[in-house]
Amino acid sequence: MSASVRPIISTSTPKSVMLELGARCERCGHCCKYGSGYVLEEEIPAIAGFLKIEPQRFKGEYLTELNELNTRVWKLNQIKNGRPFGPCIFYKEGAGCLIHEVKPLYCRIASCSDREGDALQWFRFNMLLDREDPEALRQWNQIMLHTQKKIVGASIEEIIPDPELRFKILSYEIMTKEELKNYVNKNQNKTINEDKILRG
Ligand code: SF4
Ligand code: SF4
Repeated sequence: MSASVRPIISTSTPKSVMLELGARCERCGHCCKYGSGYVLEEEIPAIAGFLKIEPQRFKGEYLTELNELNTRVWKLNQIKNGRPFGPCIFYKEGAGCLIHEVKPLYCRIASCSDREGDALQWFRFNMLLDREDPEALRQWNQIMLHTQKKIVGASIEEIIPDPELRFKILSYEIMTKEELKNYVNKNQNKTINEDKILRG
């Protein structure tokens, strides 16, 4: 693992910078031996193509479907053999990542131990969190309540600066995307930071 200075990651750190940080990976394989990466729906065709199989077969044999932040995402299967964790299905001792050329974004930006939490937060915020979805925002708030270190921009107060709107969302007064859209449209002159909440 790299002993370089810990980088400061915020929610608005550009993807290009995250990729540069990820490129510092020294390929020790530690994170792949004890975990695996997320795969976004749009990444599936390229990896399936690399493996020369149909996307449906790739999903069935190599991925587990998850619902996180009220959205669908995939995770690479792990070979657990009855244990709570195990290596990624594409990790091979001595050879490393068998899909290195097409590995998903998560694996390219994560996950050295000195910044794994930050990279995971950045990934969830930028790739999974739909800021137009009140349920996703409520679930994000729950994660943040139990997260000791939040990256800059990740707290619910930063995402929804307007206290009234924040209360309405977190108390389920605003339940659906439609209700949120209507509220924002009606209250455009109030202190709603559209840049944050609607930049999806
Ligand atoms: S896809 Fe490759 S880099 Fe990602 S967890 Fe699996 S072995 Fe590691
Ligand atoms: S990101 Fe994973 S494989 Fe790369 S140096 Fe860190 S622990 Fe090792």
